[in-house]
Amino acid sequence: MGEKVETCIGCDIGGSYVKIGLISRNGTILYQRTVPLPPLTTPEEMADWISSLLLNFYTMGKKLHTVPIGVGIGIPGPLQYPEGILHDPPNLPFSGEIPMRQFIEERISLPVIMDNDATTQTLGELWLGEGIGIKNLIYLSFGTGIGGGIVIDGKVYRGTIGLAGEIGHMTIDYHGRPCLCGARGCLETYASLNGLAQSLLEWKDPLPHDLTMALRSKDYGSLPALLKDKIESGEVQWQRIWDIFADALGAGIGSLINLFNPQKVVLSGGLSYYSNLFLPRTLEKIHTSSFRGAAKGCLIRISKLKNTSGIIGAAHLAFTWEENKR
Ligand SMILES: [Zn+2]
Repeated sequence: MGEKVETCIGCDIGGSYVKIGLISRNGTILYQRTVPLPPLTTPEEMADWISSLLLNFYTMGKKLHTVPIGVGIGIPGPLQYPEGILHDPPNLPFSGEIPMRQFIEERISLPVIMDNDATTQTLGELWLGEGIGIKNLIYLSFGTGIGGGIVIDGKVYRGTIGLAGEIGHMTIDYHGRPCLCGARGCLETYASLNGLAQSLLEWKDPLPHDLTMALRSKDYGSLPALLKDKIESGEVQWQRIWDIFADALGAGIGSLINLFNPQKVVLSGGLSYYSNLFLPRTLEKIHTSSFRGAAKGCLIRISKLKNTSGIIGAAHLAFTWEENKR
């Protein structure tokens, strides 16, 4: 028998699903699962549920003859790093200042490091994705809202207490749509699943049955495919919904390019699979809302890691955290 492989458990907590993987030091995913997030109302319930999932993976890691040495978790923020304290997370069903990292560490016997979900995804891109060899990068992940990551000189920029990178809450229109965060006209009120839903709710004419049902049941995840099918079957008026998305995103990325002069902007998350419906117009908008030199030198790319960047990046965070302690 050779030496046992060290692994970390990477966990990516989303609004409705949790992705979790057992990952080796070279980035190989040895085992992974996607589990629907049950209805949890208190932070303690969430900590209990995540901990039992992590313990399953710990047991699986042993079964696969590996040595799990740590846990990395990406969770919807705002999150104070590295303490792992949530600050009124708008996408989780509870509020206040919650020491979630401590809660989980009290329940399992492995060291836990926790970061904003978009930050762990950004770390995944830097390690094994579009960010390899890139020093200055902006990462955007589209889902219910928008997650953001900022990389400056090869390092994720976290801000003073770890709350930086909330690109989804960058103001696009300060008179605009109300956002879950309490502000108005944030980028994610236009360029996200919630944004698509809001554009449909503002549609002047009556909506067809399938769209009405999706909105009524809050099944926003089905909206992109429904809109795509309609446009492809000739109902071109629905392109307008994507155009609102595209324009807001272009204005947002244009501002980010002016602020950070990045080499690359990486688009990820479920909505990035529909880029043919918004990206051409977004690219035009970027060029009219940023300095030409900066925009010309910046690549806009769709992530190739699909939905694994979060677990890969969370595991990477756990490995580097452990190394720094040795
Ligand atoms: Zn907001």
